[in-house]
Amino acid sequence: MSQNKHSVSRRNLLRLSAAGLAVPSALLSAACSREMTRKGEGEVVVIGGGFGGAAAAKYLKRYNPKINVTLIEPKKAYVTCPASNWVIGGLVEMEEITHTYDGLKKHGVNVMHEVVSSVDPQKRVVTLSDGQKVNYDRLIVSPGIDFKWGVHEGVDEDVANIIPHAWKAGDQTRLLRDQLRSMRQGGTFVMVAPPNPFRCPPGPYERAGMVAHYLSKHNPTANILILDQKNKFSKQALFMEGWRNNYGQMIEWVAAMDGGTVFGIDVANKIIDADYGEVKADVINYIPAQKAGVLADQMGLTDESGFCPVNQQTFESKVHHNIHVIGDAAMAGPMPKSGHSAVSQAKICAANVVQSLAELDPISAKNANTCYSLITPDYAISVAAVYDVKDKQIVPVEGAGGVSRMNASLQEYRMEANYTRGWYKSITDEVWG
Ligand SMILES: Cc1cc2nc3c(=O)[nH]c(=O)nc-3n(C[C@H](O)[C@H](O)[C@H](O)COP(=O)(O)OP(=O)(O)OC[C@H]3O[C@@H](n4cnc5c(N)ncnc54)[C@H](O)[C@@H]3O)c2cc1C
Repeated sequence: MSQNKHSVSRRNLLRLSAAGLAVPSALLSAACSREMTRKGEGEVVVIGGGFGGAAAAKYLKRYNPKINVTLIEPKKAYVTCPASNWVIGGLVEMEEITHTYDGLKKHGVNVMHEVVSSVDPQKRVVTLSDGQKVNYDRLIVSPGIDFKWGVHEGVDEDVANIIPHAWKAGDQTRLLRDQLRSMRQGGTFVMVAPPNPFRCPPGPYERAGMVAHYLSKHNPTANILILDQKNKFSKQALFMEGWRNNYGQMIEWVAAMDGGTVFGIDVANKIIDADYGEVKADVINYIPAQKAGVLADQMGLTDESGFCPVNQQTFESKVHHNIHVIGDAAMAGPMPKSGHSAVSQAKICAANVVQSLAELDPISAKNANTCYSLITPDYAISVAAVYDVKDKQIVPVEGAGGVSRMNASLQEYRMEANYTRGWYKSITDEVWG
């Protein structure tokens, strides 16, 4: 039963009593105390069991175990995008980056492996693809990203089986890894890097390092060309220094304004038509432009940017009351679209959902993000930032965070590589453990 129905019945009893009608005092006090115990409880549904959704579900139960939390996620096991570049580079196996939902179940979360087909925000009902309906008092949506296909001539959704994006981890990761492994000696691996905004700003460049790591061992005369759809990228100077130090000239990066802009791809012949000229590739890693997961769009939560505007203090949607959006799908000011950001947002969002069910004022808390990137198994760089909220907008805290030092010692970059693996273990334990 929803909290609203409960309040109404109590209110009716109080009205009857105030109107001088005889309401047995035992019934009145039972109604009052029942509301006291139920205040703060309720049904919360979380859609999407990735970094944002799984963390939100877990923290809701931690903050108030009496809340009924249902997580809806189609996959029985989640393969993380973080560390998926390591699989491509041959450092780890897929099993090592795959996490089940058993941990969440142990924490009291009801996990339903289903696809959400629609949501009725007025009736507060989620409909699943098999027709089942799930009621909620508050809904948290964390559907991740989807791709903008049709931007480049010759490139639609179907080509992902030939020129994989590997920007959602799983089969796509395996496909790109296998294509890299079977690339001819001395071949060319071309990455088309996406325009902003996109999931994991350092991700394409970590991938270039991991591909170079594999090639330098198994195919040392091969080369990597990055055709970028933008003019600069995250941790650029550090990446370029790391590439030079470890792989010499193997990786070439071309900014959009210097010829990187792509017009179309002849997928069958693996020829890219770019401002740079025609490029014949052996393997193409085409990472499309991005938008919020399609469900967010279907729910009407997005604006013309393709992402979801939210109150950046509580992550409540600016479109629908009682629905919160977190993670890659949300517009969270200057926060990058990362797993770390999604988990940080999930904790603050969960706390505010708990507050709202208890009819308490929203809380304001600081978000944080760290993005580590391996360049080799023993050489990594990082960026970190802390964010405050001012006038319901997320803003960076000046002087907090920073990036790795340029020209640091190999020992320092090796330590960062250890922190990178430590970060992965701790965040995945936190979310799925
Ligand atoms: C190569 C790569 C490397 C990365 N490395 C890092 C890193 O080192 N550090 C870092 O912090 N971040 C990293 N990221 C970014 C990180 O993966 C994302 O930012 C993070 O996954 C976002 O979490 P999310 O909850 O928003 O989305 P997701 O984790 O994608 O979760 C969304 C979930 O929603 C589910 N879903 C979608 N639609 C529906 C529906 N209709 N019904 C039910 N469920 C649905 C999906 O099945 C999915 O499981 C990397 C990304 C990539 C691509």
